Amino acid sequence: MIQGFCITGIILVVFMAVCIVMMGRIKKEIVNTMRFLFAVAILTVLCNIAAVLTVEGEEYFAMLMHGLYFALTDWLVVALFYFAKHYTGYFDKNKTVVGIFSFFSIVDTISLLANLYFKHIFYCEWTDIYQGTLEYSCYAVHTRMPGYLSHILIVYSMALFVMGVFFVKARNTIKLYRRKYDVILYSFVIILGVNIVYRFANIAIDISVIFYVLLAIAIGYFGLLYIPKGLTARLLSFSVKDMSMGILCFDLVGNCIYVNDMAKRLFGQAQCKDYEFFEKYYADWLEEQGDEELVDTTWREQQIEGDKINYYETKFKRLLDDDGNFVGAYFSIVDMTEEITKYERERYRATHDELTGIFNRVGFMEQAHMVLENDPDTKRCIMYVDVKDFKLYNDMFGVEAGDKLLIKIAGIMRQEYPENIVYGRLSGDRFAVCMPVERFDEQRITDYIKTAAAKDGNDVYHVHIQLGIYFITDPTMDVSVMCDRARIAIQSIKSDYQKYAAYYDEKLGDQLYKEKKLISGFEEAMDDGQFRMYLQPQIAADGTLLGAEALVRWMHPVDGLIPPIAFIPLFEQTGYIHKLDMCVWELACRQLAQWKKMGREELHISVNISAKDFYYIDLYETFTGLVKKYEIAPKNLKLEITETAVMTEMSKQLKLLDRLREFGFHIEIDDFGSGYSSLNTLKDMNVDVVKMDMGFLKKTEHQDRSRIIMDAMIAMSKKLGIAVITEGVETEEQVAFLRTAGCDMFQGYYFDKPMPVEQFEEKYKVS
Ligand code: C2E
Ligand code: CA
Ligand code: CA
Repeated sequence: MIQGFCITGIILVVFMAVCIVMMGRIKKEIVNTMRFLFAVAILTVLCNIAAVLTVEGEEYFAMLMHGLYFALTDWLVVALFYFAKHYTGYFDKNKTVVGIFSFFSIVDTISLLANLYFKHIFYCEWTDIYQGTLEYSCYAVHTRMPGYLSHILIVYSMALFVMGVFFVKARNTIKLYRRKYDVILYSFVIILGVNIVYRFANIAIDISVIFYVLLAIAIGYFGLLYIPKGLTARLLSFSVKDMSMGILCFDLVGNCIYVNDMAKRLFGQAQCKDYEFFEKYYADWLEEQGDEELVDTTWREQQIEGDKINYYETKFKRLLDDDGNFVGAYFSIVDMTEEITKYERERYRATHDELTGIFNRVGFMEQAHMVLENDPDTKRCIMYVDVKDFKLYNDMFGVEAGDKLLIKIAGIMRQEYPENIVYGRLSGDRFAVCMPVERFDEQRITDYIKTAAAKDGNDVYHVHIQLGIYFITDPTMDVSVMCDRARIAIQSIKSDYQKYAAYYDEKLGDQLYKEKKLISGFEEAMDDGQFRMYLQPQIAADGTLLGAEALVRWMHPVDGLIPPIAFIPLFEQTGYIHKLDMCVWELACRQLAQWKKMGREELHISVNISAKDFYYIDLYETFTGLVKKYEIAPKNLKLEITETAVMTEMSKQLKLLDRLREFGFHIEIDDFGSGYSSLNTLKDMNVDVVKMDMGFLKKTEHQDRSRIIMDAMIAMSKKLGIAVITEGVETEEQVAFLRTAGCDMFQGYYFDKPMPVEQFEEKYKVS
């Protein structure tokens, strides 16, 4: 018996020692608490074995070993508490309980050591143990009250507390994990039971020691290694169940083995109890695949639900075993509706114009490219649509009206070009349409635009829209280049209010090239003095010379004389015009100064002011500065302004003109009677001279009526105290008529074309 006990004890001690060494490799805090527990358990067993094996006559040693064994049971419970603390996560930051446990254990240990002398807890006596016959002899423990009771109380209360900790944890944890705590709890109860029996049955050998070790081993296993049976599977199934993805699993022969809630919902089978529906789905799907070998695939599907479209992405995957044999398959279905709708929304925003809802530049280019690529054989054209003077329109009627106009144009396109025709708003007031050639009908679309785009309720202002058409010859060409070409076509009719449509041809391409060359040559031309001032005489009704209009010419070193019409509009677009104008004004002033010196102070020069100049420079400062610099009379420098130049920011510009007039300059309205000119202008603008445009009269078929109008305009101007000059006078007959009508001054080829200053001076004897 005694040998059996000792051998068992030693085996367990060795086993635990090995465990301690092995556990050393695991770096976890809980392992440290376990090693502490195992170490105390080893000592407890060794002390108990030593006590039992003490030979007769060594009573003192037996007392010491028993005393240590009793003290170590205290520390075993302390170690257990340490472990419980980490294992359960309770008392994480709490040091009080450990403090109390340690205090009592220390007190009890001291008391047990003192027992060697005072024997107030127990004493040992050499005893023969009988079990039927004499079994063995050893130093048995005889307890003394109340000393022993206090030791028992300390150990058991601490042990009960630790048990309580495990008990509470076991009750509060989810069912799956409860076993981890329960096993420890039960082992604990058994040990306590055995221990109580040992204490009160007064048996010399404390068998519970063996159970201590078993407890330690149970703790080691359940604390570190044990994963509740089925936990993995159940956790996996939980995660699959809760997935936002639908999962359907099938075995080798097509039986459905699992369907998660999401899949049921996606298939509209939330309430279904068996898997019949899904098995049929799989069978049908397999049939659709035909005889081909099954492979993993992914596909997307749409489902229309009322006015909503749902998008799903389904994956089919085979399940293979380690040897690659087919053992089953599963489908995963993801509801992509939100992502796809979001993507589509973003895409829509990127490719559509917010204001009109039709394609924007990006959308138009993409879509047109796609159409041309998919069907390169159909002959198509690009129609570029441009609202003339849209900025002016915006300024006159407000941005809201401007927006309305754009929406209206988009509406026309929607109505006219329902399918298979791509249209979009490229920028500001520019639209483009890509359509089969036979759908382009110039008459129809211009008529349409003329009526539909008229400003509602405004009889004076008519929206003028121009079209540029490019017939696509090479469908692989960049769509933006095609649009450029259509736009260039418009440029050729830009200043012609009678024309609505223009077609691109190669010549226009050359023109674009030439224009680019002119723009890039500007700076150099300025530095080189290639811009010259030409003068065209302005003659009084009695034939005397009054002055001249300064008209610029570009003396190009290679291309020769370039007329202003070829570069002025370009420089207006690129913002160079004010530099050029300032150069011409300077030349004019220098000329006036020279004439003054020659005693011809009565002659004037009219200079042109571009509408753009109003934006780029301070006209007041510039002109007053110039006349001061050249010491000339401001009335000799006449300022030619078109009505459109002052239309934007009207009141500001009118104030500027008033200040210039106050300073002494004469203001002329240029091109009166062309373009947007209205009689209203004369009411608001304080001007000195009105310059009638002969072109206006020439273009009409009813000459008589035109002359009546012209007659009236001259009469009206005179009544307002405004002088009248007519330009573009080419015939004697015109001169005669204008003279009778009361026109004060004339300018035109009838008298002279614009000419270089020297020629002018020579011819008119200005020297
Ligand atoms: P504009 O100010 O209306 O100038 C009158 C234009 O009519 C001049 O053309 C002139 O040569 C032309 N002309 C004069 N008499 C007759 C005629 O009897 N019959 C015909 N058919 N035409 C006649 P030009 O010099 O080619 O100038 C064209 C336009 O270029 C000018 O029109 C003006 O708007 C602009 N321009 C010319 N020089 C300058 C300048 O220095 N600065 C600015 N901003 N614009 C200028
Ligand atoms: Ca002019
Ligand atoms: Ca003019």
